[in-house]
Amino acid sequence: DEIRKKCLVIPDGSGYDTSLFTIPVKYADFLKSILIPNGLVKDRTHKLAVDILSSVPNTKSLVVLCVLKGGYKFCSELVDAMERYICSCEINMSIKVEFIRLKSYHNVSSTGEVEVIGLSNLSHLTGKDILIVEDIIDTGKTMTKALELIKQYNPNSVQCASLLLKRTDKSCGYVPEFLGFTVPEGFVVGFGIDYNEFFRDFPHIGVINEEGIKQFAV
Ligand code: 5GP
Repeated sequence: DEIRKKCLVIPDGSGYDTSLFTIPVKYADFLKSILIPNGLVKDRTHKLAVDILSSVPNTKSLVVLCVLKGGYKFCSELVDAMERYICSCEINMSIKVEFIRLKSYHNVSSTGEVEVIGLSNLSHLTGKDILIVEDIIDTGKTMTKALELIKQYNPNSVQCASLLLKRTDKSCGYVPEFLGFTVPEGFVVGFGIDYNEFFRDFPHIGVINEEGIKQFAV
């Protein structure tokens, strides 16, 4: 219920027929459906930008910590929208963007292991207001682990914005402060989110099919 109030719910069983959208030839046979069209991803992201800025009224400077690689597109769209809002509302705030990598997945199943790359030189996060920007939360283990590590640097505040949250029994209960959509179980790709480096360049968020999982397996 908490989740339903703070984001757009993509119900179980939903998804648009791929024939209704332009799909790159290389991916045409490997998608089950389009879950969230590109325009809706962007519209929702623009509202998140306003929500985030409204929640930090006294912050003069915000460090956006983009979780690579999947978060890069969402982060870029979000920061652009934040900058537009800051400018049009004449807010006195500067945004800095930093990058980290958290590797936790191999093929489509979580290994339960989280590999953190780039956190060793993040001591300049001390005392800062941080917004972690992530593509998708599944079990929540990755974010929980990342938060634990970032808090060791004693930031002033840490909040998280995730584009997607999967509804799954395997969730550890973690819910980000800012959330775009909740999606049904199933492996999603597109808008920066990859399957073994494929589909990152696909503009919509879609569900990969069985053939796709085989075709692009490593
Ligand atoms: P968690 O630790 O929350 O289970 O997993 C989070 C990470 O797993 C995400 O950052 C993402 O890299 C990966 N992940 C989880 N679900 C999906 C999915 O449906 N598609 C893709 N491409 N990655 C996913």
